[in-house]
Amino acid sequence: MTNENFYITTAIPYVNAAPHIGHALEFVQTDVIRRFYDILGYKTFLLTGADENSLKNVRAAEALKIGTQELCDRNSLLFRQLAEKINLKYDIFFRSSNKDKHWPGAQEIWKRCVDSGDIYKKEYEGLYCVGCEGFYTKDELVDGLCPEHKTKPEEVKEVNYFFRLSKYQDALLQLIESGKLAIFPESRKNEVLSFIKGGLEDFSASRSAERAHGWGVPVPGDPSQIQYVWIDALTTYINGIGFGTDMEQFKKWWPAQLHVIGKGITRFHAIYWPAILMSAKVELPKAIFAHGYLTVNGEKMSKTIGNVINPLDVLEKYSADELRYYLIRDMPSFEDGDFSIQALKDRANKELLGEIGNLVSRVLTMAERSGLQKYEGDNVLEKKLELEKIKTTLSKMELHETLEAVLSFVKECNRYINEEAPWKLSGKPLETALYNLLEGIRVLSILLYPFIPDTAGKMADKLGTKMGCIEDCTFRGKFEGKVVKGAHLFEKLE
Ligand SMILES: [Zn+2]
Repeated sequence: MTNENFYITTAIPYVNAAPHIGHALEFVQTDVIRRFYDILGYKTFLLTGADENSLKNVRAAEALKIGTQELCDRNSLLFRQLAEKINLKYDIFFRSSNKDKHWPGAQEIWKRCVDSGDIYKKEYEGLYCVGCEGFYTKDELVDGLCPEHKTKPEEVKEVNYFFRLSKYQDALLQLIESGKLAIFPESRKNEVLSFIKGGLEDFSASRSAERAHGWGVPVPGDPSQIQYVWIDALTTYINGIGFGTDMEQFKKWWPAQLHVIGKGITRFHAIYWPAILMSAKVELPKAIFAHGYLTVNGEKMSKTIGNVINPLDVLEKYSADELRYYLIRDMPSFEDGDFSIQALKDRANKELLGEIGNLVSRVLTMAERSGLQKYEGDNVLEKKLELEKIKTTLSKMELHETLEAVLSFVKECNRYINEEAPWKLSGKPLETALYNLLEGIRVLSILLYPFIPDTAGKMADKLGTKMGCIEDCTFRGKFEGKVVKGAHLFEKLE
């Protein structure tokens, strides 16, 4: 057992729209890692929340003819509902429109960056769409036109504050090459390194308050400017645990052991964020895990195609465990994956029902029929458990491999039933077979807990055992529990 702290975060999504299935993937991945560290004996803390200061939210609210705060309240609630329904075990849901909790930290970091000489005024030149009232980069335009309005954006100049990112080029290179800031997977790490080697440019860190519609965190000492995206958004990771408001709590949890993010924002987390923290003289996070994106039935999700999947709708029809299991099992941790309801049902029927549900149901039926009160025997089945592989793949964030290693033990247990045929046995051989299977299920209730916590809890209940930790994942020579078969864990999905 360890007593170390483990602070983990999801990305903090824009709440200009309702959550889509990609958010569900990130919630589940983050939660699986958190719960694993729980059973590994760490003291864990998980932060999630909403990035509410974006101009995108202002625009989305205007389109709906409602206030920006109202839009943020409405959509943040949907993200929070998703977190609840998908069993994201979070400790704080942090909203960046919270002036009391977020602004002091965001402004403190800004001031510290000023003190380090890293914030300066410069003319900003950008492509501005009047219709959107927002800036676009060249990459975001479609054939040189605003993707929303199909009009040519104007070149606009205004004086903004810039962050001196270029100063941190060597320090960042050293940080990432040395692995002091780990980036999973390796391919993203290499992308970041080659981006840094290509030369870093200072980035714009503010907008005129007028262009930002007065929405966001004011620049300390200059109310004509609002913080633009990065210092504001990234500091949610520290402000959410008390930076600027409760330094005791902050010191307890910071630095983060892991930021879980989508691959598209790797650069900002692996380059901007550590540079801002170095400038502000705050400790750096330890690792970043960048996951891939989801397509739906082979197509990119888009409002135009109308194939955006709302995970809250999915969770109306399928259980949190069915969705969680499918997302981890079928989506590779680091690559893009394809989401389809048919594949979800196939996985659930074949593995949750066919392997896990079937194992539990067969063993508990035999245990009840045996009339045995105690179960002892040799630990033959334990040798099939690949605990080291489970730990190693987890430490590399290869979550689908971790789950596969757990599932392979489920299959070994089912194979053991078929080979031993306990229904033909009696006396000591029957006791030994049931001992092995009950211990196997007990260990599985622990190892499945990060992936399918509701089901794992039910398994422990049926065995009459307590949810254990990693030290309990060994066979103990004696099964101690009071077995009650009860209802099936899963029903067939049609
Ligand atoms: Zn536009």
